[in-house]
Amino acid sequence: MKLILLGPPGAGKGTQAQFIVDQYGIPQVSTGDMLREAVKSGSDLGNRVKSVMDSGELVTDGIIIELVQERISQPDCVRGFLFDGFPRTIPQAQALVDAGVEIDGVVEIQVPDAEIISRLAGRRVHPGSGRVYHVTYNPPKVDGKDDVSGEDLIQRDDDQEDTIRNRLEVYREQTQPLVAFYSDMSDAGGGRPAYCAVDGVGDTDAIKVQVETALKEINA
Ligand code: ADP
Ligand code: ADP
Repeated sequence: MKLILLGPPGAGKGTQAQFIVDQYGIPQVSTGDMLREAVKSGSDLGNRVKSVMDSGELVTDGIIIELVQERISQPDCVRGFLFDGFPRTIPQAQALVDAGVEIDGVVEIQVPDAEIISRLAGRRVHPGSGRVYHVTYNPPKVDGKDDVSGEDLIQRDDDQEDTIRNRLEVYREQTQPLVAFYSDMSDAGGGRPAYCAVDGVGDTDAIKVQVETALKEINA
């Protein structure tokens, strides 16, 4: 199954991705995680993208498309994958079409801006695994530590209020057009890819139930 999780920063894509990966046995392909890995390793690519990421702007399409193409050619992606944070622009989505990658379903998670700011400001992550927590809404068992490994959690450099506002603007201008792009593609393709929108406000488990329903529809 080839899936896309679409939604603004802080919508809960990474949070929901964790259960989809467990349930469907497909890898999560998070371009944000891949880029942060590159920054951490100090690679050439990492050095090129760090300041762009810290400002909340998008990394150029060419870099992202190359990164994703390389990733989905790996053996663990033969049965499908879950894109999280990709595509983020029309050219990125078009690159998938041009490469003949047929997406089965798009799940859009809808959350209003006011909620996003408090979510991202309280987000804490475990860099090693990509596991996501929130100081209030989804706290770890031990303050500041990952539930599984016990290692330290960090706050991302781009989860500062000014940067968050810029990211929301970038989302609206460059990523939101994908809602129409995929809805139209779905209509033109007789429901393929399936397009499902879920309300991302509320309890994480309640949202998970909605996502599960969407995935059943996509799988049908
Ligand atoms: P979020 O958790 O806020 O949705 P991500 O972890 O997906 O954010 O992305 C963090 C940053 O990495 C983005 O602000 C952007 O600079 C860069 N990035 C990630 N994915 C992409 C992409 N598909 N295209 C361009 N830039 C990206
Ligand atoms: P994204 O990957 O879309 O940027 P995340 O999954 O990283 O979003 O979630 C952003 C923050 O919001 C995290 O701190 C996460 O724990 C928290 N969060 C996720 N889902 C919910 C929810 N339904 N209600 C409240 N907080 C949530």
